[in-house]
Amino acid sequence: MITCAAIVVREEEAAMASSREQSQETSSGPGKRILVVEDELETEEMLRTYFEFCGYEVLSTAWGKDVQEICRESHPDLIILDLQLPDTDGYQVYQELGNTQQTSHIPVIFLTKVVDDDLKATSRATGALDYITKPFDLQELERRVRDALR
Ligand code: CA
Repeated sequence: MITCAAIVVREEEAAMASSREQSQETSSGPGKRILVVEDELETEEMLRTYFEFCGYEVLSTAWGKDVQEICRESHPDLIILDLQLPDTDGYQVYQELGNTQQTSHIPVIFLTKVVDDDLKATSRATGALDYITKPFDLQELERRVRDALR
């Protein structure tokens, strides 16, 4: 069903998701496709499990270099982008997305352990951008995703 060159699939975290069951009736998730760019397997799994549970389709990669290609092939509606990636800087990925016509409209939510002034400045300078710091609250993140997809 999901085609993605660099996909990482392990879906055993259902217990975590089911503990959040009751709050999902307002989700606008069904049909929306999220690309998760995250190299930490645990976080990737958690996001995948949770967002799939909420009715989203989830693609993922650990590599910034793959993002453009995945966007070309699979047209995600939103990207959750870890800023600390093994191959490249999340900002760079974000800039490339913004500079490419087919991807410049896609809302991006940064995922980061560090909130510094650069991030705050970038976030202010670019309207469509949101960020959330690790460790993060999944429900809060889903709320922001929903807002961004409105
Ligand atoms: Ca990372």
